[in-house]
Amino acid sequence: MRLSRYFLPILKETPKEAEIVSHRLMLRAGMLRQEASGIYAWLPLGHRVLKKIEQIVREEQNRAGAIELLMPTLQLADLWRESGRYDAYGPEMLRITDRHKRELLYGPTNEEMITEIFRAYVKSYKNLPLNLYHIQWKFRDEQRPRFGVMRGREFLMKDAYSFDLDEAGARRAYNKMFVAYLRTFARMGLKAIPMRAETGPIGGDLSHEFIVLADTGESGVFCDRDVLDLPVPGEDVDYDGDLTPIIKQWTSVYAATEDVHDAERFEREVPQERRLNTRGIEVGQIFYFGTKYSEPMKALVAGPDGAEVPIHGGSYGVGVSRLLGAIIEACHDENGIKWPEAVAPFRVAILNLKQGDAATDGACEQLYRELSAKGVDVLYDDTDQRAGAKFATADLIGIPWQVLVGPKGLAEGTVELKRRADGTRCNVALAEAVARLT
Ligand code: ATP
Ligand code: MG
Ligand code: MG
Ligand code: MG
Repeated sequence: MRLSRYFLPILKETPKEAEIVSHRLMLRAGMLRQEASGIYAWLPLGHRVLKKIEQIVREEQNRAGAIELLMPTLQLADLWRESGRYDAYGPEMLRITDRHKRELLYGPTNEEMITEIFRAYVKSYKNLPLNLYHIQWKFRDEQRPRFGVMRGREFLMKDAYSFDLDEAGARRAYNKMFVAYLRTFARMGLKAIPMRAETGPIGGDLSHEFIVLADTGESGVFCDRDVLDLPVPGEDVDYDGDLTPIIKQWTSVYAATEDVHDAERFEREVPQERRLNTRGIEVGQIFYFGTKYSEPMKALVAGPDGAEVPIHGGSYGVGVSRLLGAIIEACHDENGIKWPEAVAPFRVAILNLKQGDAATDGACEQLYRELSAKGVDVLYDDTDQRAGAKFATADLIGIPWQVLVGPKGLAEGTVELKRRADGTRCNVALAEAVARLT
């Protein structure tokens, strides 16, 4: 992509409405535009990152055996009356009436709809286990939308729903999602800690929230520092094998949200110097809720003995759009964002430090051609801005690798390669730069 032809509306001034650094940086870097309170347009740079994050979530769901489908954003109110949640959900639910006076709602979550789909087709235990997910926009009319994508009203969520014959099966499904979440967040360069959590309006009796520690987080959390160093399962993890050793390892170290915190146990189990009481961002949550939906909604399957039983369910959410904020909170400095490579909007930025100089232009074009041909996502800053402004833009938008190309270096046959994460730089020949970046 040539920056001169791209749509990257960088803001010079720091927007006053943004209270936290991730929100400020997303606005300044031209990633996001607020269209209404808690409702955003995703500008091209933000959209690229959103898609990268979504794809990592998808790959790890698929790896764990979940199957993707897509449900609509609008749902019938009557469906929610079956579970009893239409009235229980309260003012967070956006209720809509169509021209025929039918009551609809913009889905805040999908337990009811997926249960309706399941019961229409699945009648036998032989079709279990089953885990279906989608990545779809949700709407919750939050009392206080704030912090940009962290607490939006419209936001992108991955939500998966598991169906099993009994509790033991449902726990295996839960464990798979637990491990998939460990891998998902680690791939994005995040440390997200599974913490015991309250089940809330979803219902049920087993739940973990995945929390990224950050002072700006809205959740109070308590944990043993040791949990920060536990190993994340590799991509060779066997989802059909026994995952309980991994789950045991992660759940035997104290980690709880403030809602379920047990102060006595914390003090008994965790030595003073390892006690951490801090704040964090909820990037995902998993629930086991048993027959909470299958009983009222009659999602029954015939068991091996022919008798019909309600399935045991779980649901598993990831805040896909919230993750952009969480990653920036974790990866930035005073100059801007430092994207982990896996989610960066572009992997490489080429900075032409003397636009119009034939040798410099030529070298940049060659680099741009060769990197693009090798499938590298490149943003080529071919604008007529001063070098200083180009440095500032590249740092602000957080591209992991910058190639600085100017007449001085080229006279000696080199370009400068800068790594955004730690600021390290080195001079290399053009061909060497291409080799290192591919
Ligand atoms: P919170 O406690 O932050 O209100 P929640 O517990 O209500 O979140 P869940 O129902 O568990 O949210 O939804 C799954 C995930 O969706 C959450 O873990 C979070 O990452 C994300 N999420 C929830 N509400 C929002 C929101 N208003 N804006 C952006 N992401 C959200
Ligand atoms: Mg909420
Ligand atoms: Mg919550
Ligand atoms: Mg939650």
